[in-house]
Amino acid sequence: MTINQISQVAIVGGTHGNELIGVYLVKKFKQFPDLIKRPSFEALILLANLRAFEAGRRYLETDLNRCFDIQDLENPMLIQYEQLLAKVIYQQLQESQVDFLIDLHSSTANMGLTILLGNDHPFNLHLAAYLSSINPSVKVLQTEATQKNNRLRSVCELGITIEVGPISQGVLDATLFQKTEKLITVILDYLEQWNQNQTPNSPNTLTLYYPLESIDFPRNEAGEVVGMIHPSLEGNDYLALNPGDQMFVNFDDSVVVYQGKTTVYPVFINESAYWEKGIAMYLTSKQELNILNQ
Ligand SMILES: [Zn+2]
Repeated sequence: MTINQISQVAIVGGTHGNELIGVYLVKKFKQFPDLIKRPSFEALILLANLRAFEAGRRYLETDLNRCFDIQDLENPMLIQYEQLLAKVIYQQLQESQVDFLIDLHSSTANMGLTILLGNDHPFNLHLAAYLSSINPSVKVLQTEATQKNNRLRSVCELGITIEVGPISQGVLDATLFQKTEKLITVILDYLEQWNQNQTPNSPNTLTLYYPLESIDFPRNEAGEVVGMIHPSLEGNDYLALNPGDQMFVNFDDSVVVYQGKTTVYPVFINESAYWEKGIAMYLTSKQELNILNQ
């Protein structure tokens, strides 16, 4: 792998204004800059959507974390608040020549400590393997293969999104806050060690979850939701869902079971922010990836 030194890191919180762990971590790092200071690189901190945070909302006009498609960034016709904000953030990251980006998110689903990868760059894979080896509760989720490259993390080849949960929107949780802070500390230390040619050993294999498809709630012909996540599935993110297992319970008390042919691993189960997107959960496959020669 040929990567030069990491000389500029960006830590971004508040890409979604009501995901407060990222917002307040960024505020904490601003107040105590020594926490993110390392000898070999600069760490820039950014509160991405301040106005959405002040309004207590995920976004004002459109989801900022869907505005970073390169064609959209260059399209002068796109003038919604977050579309313009994305252009400003993109320019700022370009001008700062950011080499590595950490984007902080939280989820109402039971995502634990999730590392979301924007690509399969070997540097990101080895970092993810290292993080999950020193903390086995860390899960690594790959980006949907069909997904548009419109997330903030897509603007920088090296980097990860951290997604922690479960936590309600608009509140803090000290345990998850501290776990996220610790994870950032470990990542910054890893980058420092990389720059010093002392990268810690990572395992040869990485357990990776690949999104297969999103599943919507049961709906009637008018498009109204007619069912809920089944109690036996609620909170079971990353656990096996087998053919015939219960997925939804409808208001008429009928049950919808998983009709696929293979075992899958649902994530973002009942994520509040995905209601508007018609997503009740994502189904993923679980794979052991050999990264020895990557
Ligand atoms: Zn988010």
